[in-house]
Amino acid sequence: MSPLAALATADIAGCRDDFPALHQTINGQALVFLDSAASSQQPFAVIDAVSRYQREDHANVHRGVHTLSHRATELYEGARDKLRDFINAPSRREVILTSGTTESINLVAQSYCRPSLQPGDQVLITWLEHHSNIVPWQLVCEQTGAELLVAPINDRGEIELDELQALMTERVKLLAVGHVSNALGTVNPVVDIIARAKALGITVLVDGAQGVPHMNVDVQALGCDFYAFSGHKMFGPTGTGVLWGREELLENMPPYKGGGDMILEVSFEKTVFNELPYKFEAGTPNIAGTIGLGAAVDYLQSVGMQNIEEHEKALHRYMVDQLESVEGLRLVGTARKQAGVQSFLLNDIHPHDLGTILDHQGVAVRTGHHCAMPVMQRFGLPGTTRASLALYNNTNDIDRLIAALDKAREVFA
Ligand code: PLP
Repeated sequence: MSPLAALATADIAGCRDDFPALHQTINGQALVFLDSAASSQQPFAVIDAVSRYQREDHANVHRGVHTLSHRATELYEGARDKLRDFINAPSRREVILTSGTTESINLVAQSYCRPSLQPGDQVLITWLEHHSNIVPWQLVCEQTGAELLVAPINDRGEIELDELQALMTERVKLLAVGHVSNALGTVNPVVDIIARAKALGITVLVDGAQGVPHMNVDVQALGCDFYAFSGHKMFGPTGTGVLWGREELLENMPPYKGGGDMILEVSFEKTVFNELPYKFEAGTPNIAGTIGLGAAVDYLQSVGMQNIEEHEKALHRYMVDQLESVEGLRLVGTARKQAGVQSFLLNDIHPHDLGTILDHQGVAVRTGHHCAMPVMQRFGLPGTTRASLALYNNTNDIDRLIAALDKAREVFA
């Protein structure tokens, strides 16, 4: 399909009506929402699933013998099954429901790495990572005496594969890499990276926060050991997410948190932990949110990940072409493979000022360091302005962005 034909795909064009938040005016102008990489809007299907549960089925899960508890458990566990299918995990035992990517990565750092890392061992990450894929590793390295290594990126914002490979030695026990950079939109060649690491026996975690909303993810085809993602970036509620891990690894990891639901038996002498995945899910979970996340998976699958990927690719191309025509605009992040995220600078206007001027015109973008300060340091910048796309964006949104940028140039002339 040609890029422009993809933009006209009826399935995708109609999706906009599914998102009530998009249909409002901000500062007197129709909202243009270009901040989905931070948190995407939710369709009626998700809002309704959460609201139906709250109105009709609310009860605690797993414990009750009454009807409401059964219903809540069925809906909650049903969401786990949908998520298993969504990422093609071999077993529902491997799908740990968390509060999001951040918790999923911390779980691996504390439960997989902390008991096994020794002084002299290394954890390898890259310069492209979100703080959530940096700080948990710094903490566990401090706790264990291990060392944190960082693979460099080039001026386009791509990982330098040869240099990454050179850092992969027998001392590296875990490699943690993002699927897609939230700051620059770079789509990392994760299949290749994972294969290189696995050939050397290195365990691999993929931060998929910016991967799952935009492309088909098959954890078995990827070949990684852990894959982490958040519900609120894939049209689900905040405070939801997943850690997928290989069963043989999860089985040997100690619990991350203690409490109700993660046990089979408790006495003061000894506690017997629950089986997977419940061993890692202490306490009452985010039941409503997870049910909403299940509805988000249904929604994404009904639109089709392939359609979404093609639409966003074509729209990103259109956005880059239009941005390049704006006088004084400089793109930050020009990787050969990018998802629907584009960072840029306009003349010497501070990104926060630019974001405010755009908001006055109804255009919502992100400004600042995007929780990726090392990326900004790599480019010698305090921050950028970032426009990020989702399946509900269209060429009109981009045209409005460009018009708002032209206006900002006039204001700061
Ligand atoms: N990793 C990446 C690449 C992200 O973009 C984000 C959020 O922006 C995170 C991790 C953290 O996600 P959360 O705050 O949902 O835990």
